[in-house]
Amino acid sequence: MDTKTYLEESARTMNSNIYLGNVKTETLHGIIGVATEAGELLGAAKKALFYGRPIDLDNVREEIGDILWYLAAIIRAEGWTFEELMEENIAKLKIRYPKQFTTKDAFERKDKRGTLQMEGHMINKIKKKCETEILWAQKHIDSMKEDPGFFKFLMSCWLDMHKEILELIEILKGRR
Ligand SMILES: [Mg+2]
Repeated sequence: MDTKTYLEESARTMNSNIYLGNVKTETLHGIIGVATEAGELLGAAKKALFYGRPIDLDNVREEIGDILWYLAAIIRAEGWTFEELMEENIAKLKIRYPKQFTTKDAFERKDKRGTLQMEGHMINKIKKKCETEILWAQKHIDSMKEDPGFFKFLMSCWLDMHKEILELIEILKGRR
């Protein structure tokens, strides 16, 4: 094949559309940034493996810091926390590798390809919502100390319901 034909043929599968409305700029920046910094991190391994240099741990630390910066950008933009992602990751790995890493478990993927991560994400989302509602209801109850009315009763029910959901979440997390 000549280069002219290749340029024409390869253009057939090029998609010129860009859907910027579908993703937050910070998230996109973070995703691309993690990938580019991972390439720089890989460079440290390349130099050690193929140029026979000792691995430059100062450089490794710097690149890990850069990756962390981009991860933080995504987490911040999406309103997540490092803590919930760590929890979800460990929960997934406990299912995938009940005892320790084995290639058999790696192949079987008992965590059903991310389903548990999705569940973990949902649970954390509901947990956050409950915590917000509890604070909101408690604030209103505190401001109505002299009011024995129906509204205060409703607010107490709202508060109790969200506390119970939080308890349920803790039980569910313990089972995962
Ligand atoms: Mg870097």
